[in-house]
Amino acid sequence: MTKDSIQTIEQSMNVDWQQLALKTLQGELITKEEALQVLQADDDELLAVMDAAFRIRKHYYGKKVKLNLIVNAKSGLCPEDCGYCSQSIVSNAPVTKYPLLEKDVLVDGAKRAMELQAGTYCIVASGRGPTKRELEQVTAAVAEIKATMPLKICACLGILTDEQSKQLKEAGVDRYNHNLNTSEDHYAHITSTHTYEDRVHTVEQAKQSGISPCSGVIIGMGETDEQLVNVAMALRELDADSIPVNFLNAIPGTPLEQLSNLNPRRCLKALAMFRFVCPTKEIRASGGREVNLRTMQALALYAANSIFIGDYLTTEGQEAAADHAMIEDMGFEIETCAL
Ligand code: SF4
Repeated sequence: MTKDSIQTIEQSMNVDWQQLALKTLQGELITKEEALQVLQADDDELLAVMDAAFRIRKHYYGKKVKLNLIVNAKSGLCPEDCGYCSQSIVSNAPVTKYPLLEKDVLVDGAKRAMELQAGTYCIVASGRGPTKRELEQVTAAVAEIKATMPLKICACLGILTDEQSKQLKEAGVDRYNHNLNTSEDHYAHITSTHTYEDRVHTVEQAKQSGISPCSGVIIGMGETDEQLVNVAMALRELDADSIPVNFLNAIPGTPLEQLSNLNPRRCLKALAMFRFVCPTKEIRASGGREVNLRTMQALALYAANSIFIGDYLTTEGQEAAADHAMIEDMGFEIETCAL
């Protein structure tokens, strides 16, 4: 631990978290140092930090929780080498591999989203970027879903060209997800086949096409506190509307399989930090929620206003009924699908 970190922890013992929330609510951006204080708050301060984050969350989102359902539209077979991903070329994890799902299967997934009260259906495909045929298949499914169901559609298909993002917009895609994942100076430790810049560029491109940008992180990939704060600040700068905060689920067979430095308190403080840094944005407690937050999952809702329901790409989530019950037990309510 550096001298600076020790100093920040000491300072965090004296922070008035409610005052920091008030400053945020008054429209003032919090500084990098303040974000670090949230992240490095003493465990004894955890409830005070979450209470202050809740004050901000409640101001912008009340007690509503947005549900998102993922379909793994194309699994495995990816030439990229993202160290956290079970579908990458360097992963030995035994994942099911299949090409892009047929249109009808994608539409059936949207019906399942409706059944589970998910307002957003996320069509996620592995790979560096979509082929012409894949894009046509996705846009055909999106057009049908948008014509028949009151769902928001988020697509996550990798790196996009300008033309591809326009095609997605025309088909009715509301949101495009492309996570920054980690800070610029940590990126090369996680992936070598594309750059942080490539990711920023795709988010910008989606934005320019009129699609709402969704971009987030995976925490627990060996980043420092400063690097986690830096990527939060970068997402604030990028003006991402929706920020998924994933917690590394170190899958055996992936290069990061040995990493497991998270605990539920750290995950909660990270969510709170994102709420403070990006107060008005959708903060989603995302992949790895169940395995990393464990018995403290429900507390995530004090900072986050959005979660995934159902399974993740190659790992299982908890039963949808358990998520519905968690929201009800907390006295929160599901945000209904309305466009
Ligand atoms: S995260 Fe996406 S681009 Fe990276 S290896 Fe996995 S599927 Fe491929």
